[in-house]
Amino acid sequence: MEHTGALVVVLDRSARVVRWNAACARVTGVPAEEMCGTPIWTVVPADERDGARAVLDQLVAGGRGGDHEVHLLSRTGPARLVAWSNCVLRDEAGEVAYLVGTGIDVTGRAEAEQAQRRQARQLEALAEASRVFASGLDYRTTLDTVARRLAELIGDGALIRILSPDGGWLVPVAVEHPAPERAALRRRILAAAPQRATEGITARVLDSGRTLRIPALSSETIRNEMKPEYLPYLEGVTSLLIAPLAQRRQVFGHITLMRDAGGAPYTAEDEALLEDLAHRAAQAIENARLYGEAQAAVMARDEFLSIASHELRTPLTALRLALENMRRVSSRGGADALPPAYVERVLGTAERQGQRLEKLVSALLDVSRIHMGKLDLDLEETDLEQAVQDAVAQVEDEAAQAGSTVVVHGAPAVGRWDRLRLSQVATNLLSNAVKYGAGKPVEVTYGAADGRAFLVVKDSGIGIDPASQHQIFERFERAVSSRNYGGLGLGLYIVKRIVEAHGGSVRVESSSGAGSVFSVDLPQRPPAGRDGAPAAGAAAR
Ligand code: ADP
Repeated sequence: MEHTGALVVVLDRSARVVRWNAACARVTGVPAEEMCGTPIWTVVPADERDGARAVLDQLVAGGRGGDHEVHLLSRTGPARLVAWSNCVLRDEAGEVAYLVGTGIDVTGRAEAEQAQRRQARQLEALAEASRVFASGLDYRTTLDTVARRLAELIGDGALIRILSPDGGWLVPVAVEHPAPERAALRRRILAAAPQRATEGITARVLDSGRTLRIPALSSETIRNEMKPEYLPYLEGVTSLLIAPLAQRRQVFGHITLMRDAGGAPYTAEDEALLEDLAHRAAQAIENARLYGEAQAAVMARDEFLSIASHELRTPLTALRLALENMRRVSSRGGADALPPAYVERVLGTAERQGQRLEKLVSALLDVSRIHMGKLDLDLEETDLEQAVQDAVAQVEDEAAQAGSTVVVHGAPAVGRWDRLRLSQVATNLLSNAVKYGAGKPVEVTYGAADGRAFLVVKDSGIGIDPASQHQIFERFERAVSSRNYGGLGLGLYIVKRIVEAHGGSVRVESSSGAGSVFSVDLPQRPPAGRDGAPAAGAAAR
C-alpha cells in the first residue's frame, strides 16, 4: 500500500482517516501523521463535500456508487482531481468496519480534456469563419461576424483595421468586445483618434508582415508604444495578439486580439489560430473587392452602352428625318419641287450629322487603340499655332450655334509632336469649353518657354465640382447628367492619354458654376523612347 503509485486511504465509519499512504501525502502535501485521526473532509473542497458524503453513505448502506471523482485540496498547488474506487470492509458481525478508497490523480487528463474542448471550439470558429467568408461578399458584415466570434472565443476584445486607399491611415472596420459598453467605448476612442499606419505597435506588424504576440503586456510597453489617447482603450488589457491581413505579400490591415485581466496569456496555439483566420479573412476581403470591382465594371459597361447607343442614334435620326422629308417633298411634286436652297440645307444637315457620327466612332476607336496600347505617335516638327487653328476651325460651327466666341492669344511654339493628335487635344478641349460654356466667350492661350509648351483653354461655363475633377479624365466618366449634355465621357480620357504619350500632363482648375481652365503642359522634345512608333505605343498604354 505504501509503495503503490495509486492513492490509498482507509477511513473508519465516521470518515476519519486511519491509513494515508505516501501517494496521498504527495498529492495533498499533508503527511500521514497529521492526517490520521482527522476527518477526510478537511482535504475535500467545501462545495464537493455533500456530494462525496452521499456517495459514502450509499456505500455504507450497502448500495453501489463506489466510483466517483472528487478533488483533494493540496498545500503545494491547485486542488487535484482524483478518480476514486471505493469499497467497504465489514467485521464478523457484518457491520461496516472500514471504508477503503483507491484513487488515481486524473488532473492532467481533465486539463487535456479541457484543451481538447477548447480546440474543438476553435475549429468550429474556423469552420464558421470559412462559411461566413464564403457566403457573404459584403466584407464589412463578414468582418463584423468574424470579429465577434473571435472576441467570444479568444478575445476578449477584437479589432480589425484596414489601410486607407492612400496607405496612410488605419481605418477600423470591426470593433468587438463581449461587453457591449466596452466595444462602444473603444469605437468612440478609435473614431476620435485616427491612427497613422506608421504609428504605434501595429506599425511593426504592418512593416514586417509578421504576427506579434505579447503574452504579458507591460505598462511600459503601453506607455512607450501606444498613442496616449488609446490608454483608456487598453485599460485592463494584459495580453495582446496582432496578425497582419495580407494578400500576395501585400499587408493591407490587421486583426488585433486583446485579453482582459484575469485571462490566461496568449499562447502559440492562439497565435496559430489567429494567423489561420487572418489568412482566410484576407482572402474574403480580396474576393469582396474583386467582386465589387467586377460589379462596378459591369454597371459602367451597361451605362456606357446605353449612353453610346443614344449618342449614335441622335445624328442618325436627324439624318433619317431630313432624308425622309426630302423624299416626301420630291414625291409630291417631282424633282422640280426641290428648290436648290432646300437641297443645300438637307445636304448641310446630312454632312453635319455624318461628321458627328464619324467623330463618335473615331473616339470609340481611339479608346480601344489606347486600351490595347496601340496609340502610335507620328512625331514631326509641329507648330502649336497650326494645331490650335485646326481646332478652332473644327468647333466654329458649334461655337456659332452655342453663341460663344473663341478668342486666341498665342506666341510661337514649335515642337516634335504628332500634329493630328495635338489638334485632336485642342479640339476636344475647345469643343468641351463650347459645350459646357455655351453663350460665354472661350479663351485659348498657347506658347512655349524653357523647352516646354503650354496650351490653356478657359471658359466661363458651368464649371466642375472639385469632387469630380479627378475622375473626369477616366474612361466613360462624366460629371454631368446625360439628360442635359450629350457625350460619351471619352474626350478628356483621350486628351490625357495623348498628352501623356508625348511626355506631358493635363490638369483642370475649376469650381461649380465658375467656369473651367484646362492646361496642357508638353515638352517640346518628348523624352527618349517616345520618338518612334513602338515605344510611343507602349507609353500610351
Ligand atoms: P463628354 O464631354 O463627352 O462627357 P469628356 O471626357 O470630354 O466627355 O468630359 C468628361 C466630363 O468632364 C464631362 O462629362 C463634363 O462633366 C466634364 N467637363 C469636361 N470639360 C468641361 C468644361 N469645360 N466645363 C465643365 N465640365 C466639363
